[in-house]
Amino acid sequence: MFDTNEIEIHLQGIGVSPGICIGKAYLVGREGVDIVDKYLIDEADLQKEIKRFKSAVKNANDKLQKIIESTPEGLRENAYILETHKVMFKDKMLYGKTIETIKNERVNAEWALKKVVSNVKIMFNNMTDAYLQGRVADFVHVSESIMQNLVGAKAVDIAAIDKRVILVAKDISPAETSQIQLEKIKGLVTDLGGKTSHTGIIARTLEIPAVQGLDNATRTIKNDDIIIVDGNSGMVIVHPTDHTLIEFEERQSRFEEYRAVITRDSHLPAETIDGFKLKVMGNIELPEEVVSVINYGGDGIGLFRTEFQYLSQFHFPSEDELFEQYKDVIEVMAPRSVTIRTLDISGDKAVSYAAVSEEKNPVLGLRGIRYCLKKPEVFKTQLRAILRASAFGKIKILFPMISCQEEVMAAKKMVAEAADSLEKAGLPFDENIEIGIMIEVPSAAIMADVLAKEVDFFSIGTNDLIQYSLAVDRVNKEVAHLYQPLNPAIIRMIKRVADVAKNSHVKVFMCGEMAGDPVNIPILLGLGIKRLSMNPQSIPAVKKIIRALNAEDAKRFTKDVLKETTETGVLERVFQTYGSTLFDIGYTES
Ligand code: PEP
Ligand code: MG
Repeated sequence: MFDTNEIEIHLQGIGVSPGICIGKAYLVGREGVDIVDKYLIDEADLQKEIKRFKSAVKNANDKLQKIIESTPEGLRENAYILETHKVMFKDKMLYGKTIETIKNERVNAEWALKKVVSNVKIMFNNMTDAYLQGRVADFVHVSESIMQNLVGAKAVDIAAIDKRVILVAKDISPAETSQIQLEKIKGLVTDLGGKTSHTGIIARTLEIPAVQGLDNATRTIKNDDIIIVDGNSGMVIVHPTDHTLIEFEERQSRFEEYRAVITRDSHLPAETIDGFKLKVMGNIELPEEVVSVINYGGDGIGLFRTEFQYLSQFHFPSEDELFEQYKDVIEVMAPRSVTIRTLDISGDKAVSYAAVSEEKNPVLGLRGIRYCLKKPEVFKTQLRAILRASAFGKIKILFPMISCQEEVMAAKKMVAEAADSLEKAGLPFDENIEIGIMIEVPSAAIMADVLAKEVDFFSIGTNDLIQYSLAVDRVNKEVAHLYQPLNPAIIRMIKRVADVAKNSHVKVFMCGEMAGDPVNIPILLGLGIKRLSMNPQSIPAVKKIIRALNAEDAKRFTKDVLKETTETGVLERVFQTYGSTLFDIGYTES
């Protein structure tokens, strides 16, 4: 038999919060909530059982309220996530259905709750959407906290941990993550979860390295094992050898140095050596991420993905709810602008609470603007909320997944109708609000000259533009090597959009991941893309490389790049010409 303690084990997950940490593992379990018994309840005792369930919900709710109130200052902005959990306690799908099951099946509350949760999981099981998976995780966290109260299990008391450790768990709820004391917890490792999980968002705010989606971490790692967590690559190393430890200690200090240097200058303007000014903005999914955009020196929000507000609950949000959230973001960002993208859910995401038929190929289906045009009441509610918020700062409206002129016309008509209804109601809004479209479908890039006549700006969404142009599923590992931002076809397509925008006097933004990778910046600059938006943590590095470039040189360089016929050729040229500049800003190829 091997002594597993001696063997170095590498586990690959998803890096959700960058950074490297080394330390002892501390396993947190959720004892008592996984195994529950079923028993029947006498007719006469049914009301008592329902009352028991209701009081478990109340206790869980009170506990969460206490956590919200005692959330440390630095995490206050995340209290919103916990507020959404509070709303879930009374959600029909959870609360109503559990009571119904106790009554109809005359079973104990634990069993009823377990059944309801497993039905929801099955319902969402076939959906590959990361967002939605994240929301199911929220649903499970909420139900587990009720279950803990029902079975009398002790909740994980993260706040009570009194040594410096790395937390390892099947899953950690946002409520638990919020109790983390930075001086105690070095990092996070979980079996479940991914990039868009709330836990990931909180870990990024706290700037502690985190890897999720490891599947078997809790089975492989034991308490007090020495582990290395690399939140950059998503790797967790268990029982590292001395050699590995030294290597990662070096990497850790290089990364900390890099982060410090790069963040120190992040408030300097994004201006090239020869005085060409760019705007570097942040993409956000949750209102509370605004703080990181400001902290990392962002010049505004270039993309506010609004799907989350719809997917964090199981019914459509009201106009007032949306308005309040948009207004919060605008007010914090003022005087900087905020581009709000209208709902970009696809058929499979909407099915949870809206009757839309199942689609075989949702990525090519009723998503983005197509969904909104099919559901005018949902679209109008959001447009009214955006317009109302526009009275409080600088907002732009952005339509996703535009593939033809008719969609732009129809969407603009809806904006006009929403504006009209606000005017009639005497509610203020920005009458000159700018309207733009995502260029993320190849047909929109080809028809850019026609579409330019209808809008104030373009925003190139490279995540989807690459997916649709190269026919490469953006989340399929098997074809990840073909997902090439610097493929000559993509460079040509971006050039076309940038040239059309220039000739038509339409502004052009780029808000896909491509904009956040320093290696792409010389070419984007050379193509004349002046407005970039990215995940907030990428802002400092992108600003730094911009300050090290010369725009005229980049233009000349890009002319040569356009002669290349393969991505490899393009990359070789980039590293030949800009390798040392990239090296100077601390860039390492991932
Ligand atoms: C894109 O497609 O590039 C984009 C920014 O949108 P999303 O990633 O939300 O699809
Ligand atoms: Mg997109």
